[in-house]
Amino acid sequence: MNLAQRTELYRRLAAVNPTPRSDLQYSNAFELLVAVALSAQATDVSVNKATAKLWPVANTPQAIVALGEAGLRDYIKTIGLYQTKARNVIKLCEQLLSLHGGEVPNDRAALEALPGVGSKTASVVLNIAFGVPTIAVDTHIFRVANRTGLAPEKTADKVAAKLEKVTPKEYLLNAHHWLILHGRYLCKARTPECWRCSIAEFCKFKAKTPAAGDDAAKPLKGKPAARKLAGKAARKAVKKAAKKAPKKVVKKASKTAPRKAAAKKKMAAPKAARSKAAAA
Ligand code: SF4
Repeated sequence: MNLAQRTELYRRLAAVNPTPRSDLQYSNAFELLVAVALSAQATDVSVNKATAKLWPVANTPQAIVALGEAGLRDYIKTIGLYQTKARNVIKLCEQLLSLHGGEVPNDRAALEALPGVGSKTASVVLNIAFGVPTIAVDTHIFRVANRTGLAPEKTADKVAAKLEKVTPKEYLLNAHHWLILHGRYLCKARTPECWRCSIAEFCKFKAKTPAAGDDAAKPLKGKPAARKLAGKAARKAVKKAAKKAPKKVVKKASKTAPRKAAAKKKMAAPKAARSKAAAA
């Protein structure tokens, strides 16, 4: 994807959502830091449910330390890995108090030194709370970057590095939000909604999902149904199905034939024995 295309891609994402915001609920850097740490391998919805009850009771390092590990666990027990997370958040708060005067540091190394804070969490906090133009790659961004061809790489770290390199400067600050929201609500893992995607024109993903009214969107069930389908994709599918069909039939027959013959012999045996006895 060349620079002009990348710029237009981001311009379109920005037009859809001019002031993007995280789905996590927070009102200051500390709440953001804890919410992001809690969201690892959990959904933002589950974190918001827990923090909706936690923040009114404890939204400072002092208050969370005062709650204690067991007390914090009660508030976050609906979030995955809550036991480890409770332990880390307590240690994180203690460290904020002892090393940073209870404030969230505006520094990657200091953030990553906090218990339970990795490079992704640090990037999100730096980006949202301190306006640093970084891109933290989660599962949604990883998918969008690879499908579109914006930053096709095998690991999240490589995707992050590439995105930071290829994203036009004017879009770098909000790129994280635009890509994550695009992946979460439109370029979904199972069925990306390509028919209503504003950046489909630049996207390199071959198996784009057609609109529901499009004939090519009908499921391929057997040859007759497939023949009804229109369009290039459907014709391809019919060809593929036709090629596979004879092989499957032969394979099935050769596998089941000996079993069927054996069953027939077994059924016939008592009958033959009966006729022999009658003849004697
Ligand atoms: S066209 Fe489809 S695969 Fe490509 S970015 Fe849009 S939704 Fe994702």
